[in-house]
Amino acid sequence: MNKNDSYDLVIKSPGRINLIGEHVDYNGGHVLPAAIDKKITLKLKKNNSTHITVYSKNIDSEFTIDLSNLNRSSIEWHNYIIGVIYYINVLKPNTVKGFDCYIDSNLPLGSGVSSSAALECGIAKGLNELFNIGLTDLEIINLSKDAEHTMVGTKCGIMDQFTVVKGKKDHLLLLNCKTNDYETIKVNFGDYKLVLLNTNVSHNLATSEYNVRRGECETAMKTISAKYNDLQYLCDVKPDVVKEFKNLLSEKIYNRALFVSKENQRTLKAVEAIQRNDLQTLGALLYKSHEGLSKLYEVSCTELDFLVEYSKKFDQILGARMMGGGFGGCTINLIHKDFVENLIEEISIAYRNEFSIDLTPIAIHIGDGVKI
Ligand code: ADP
Ligand code: MG
Repeated sequence: MNKNDSYDLVIKSPGRINLIGEHVDYNGGHVLPAAIDKKITLKLKKNNSTHITVYSKNIDSEFTIDLSNLNRSSIEWHNYIIGVIYYINVLKPNTVKGFDCYIDSNLPLGSGVSSSAALECGIAKGLNELFNIGLTDLEIINLSKDAEHTMVGTKCGIMDQFTVVKGKKDHLLLLNCKTNDYETIKVNFGDYKLVLLNTNVSHNLATSEYNVRRGECETAMKTISAKYNDLQYLCDVKPDVVKEFKNLLSEKIYNRALFVSKENQRTLKAVEAIQRNDLQTLGALLYKSHEGLSKLYEVSCTELDFLVEYSKKFDQILGARMMGGGFGGCTINLIHKDFVENLIEEISIAYRNEFSIDLTPIAIHIGDGVKI
């Protein structure tokens, strides 16, 4: 398959950042993500057959399967595509016909900017258009999430898919993951910029530990809701109420619950800080978030902790934290625009000296959601 072949349509599907509110989406909490200008490009055309052929330039590999055989593959990236088609079929049987798809991307894979949701939602939006299926955005968001749960095995929340589909240029989304209500919040950080620093590690604990954390949150909620049966999600539980359960939960489960409850409150405090242009407070909340993710929720790693700790040396950096599921990927940093280059130079050397790995900086521009 060649990128110069003619295609019926081209889809640009963005990655996402999340300013704050990590690991709260599957706990019914508030998150503050945005789509970014780095994207997966998918070119699609009908092939008038019963099979699909998909090529990824990033993986440099192609696969062909028959639409009558949508089973889980042993190769991970195939499952994002197979899963999406499987769940479109559940909602709208026999609407997806044979197609060819060419994929290229400038989104790093497995770095916490959600290349996975970009891939799922990109293919779902594209097939919806190509075959005139009539799925709503919310159906696309949910079926993409279901594909990731079932075919890939990550029990992710709704944030990534929601942001990829609903993102808006120059705005953060304040998304309530319990109700799927959201508002857009204009971003204007003045002299400050958001920069990602990619550790270029992705420890293979990421998927398994993600699902373990989800289970730990459910365990906490079972005990808490036995007393407070009107509370359904961990994010409905205020930190002071979590504290009542200090002796009833194991230390580990208690720490998980306390982190989630506080992180949800931090998202709401961050929005207030943004609205009164108080970037110092916003930055402090980012540092607090990282501390909780690292010490209470235990989803950080030495590389991420090193970068966040290092950033604290500089007054020009207001805040930093790990972003995404954890165990590698990127940190998100709020930095004075005049200091970005200096920081990147200095921290890259320090990081290489410590881990013998090159750091990749990613400048962030907030963009729109998936486009055809
Ligand atoms: P993240 O979503 O943070 O990037 P994940 O581990 O959730 O990390 O998803 C990364 C996986 O998504 C990759 O390992 C691959 O299977 C799939 N993927 C993402 N982008 C592409 C691409 N351009 N081509 C093929 N597969 C991709
Ligand atoms: Mg992902």
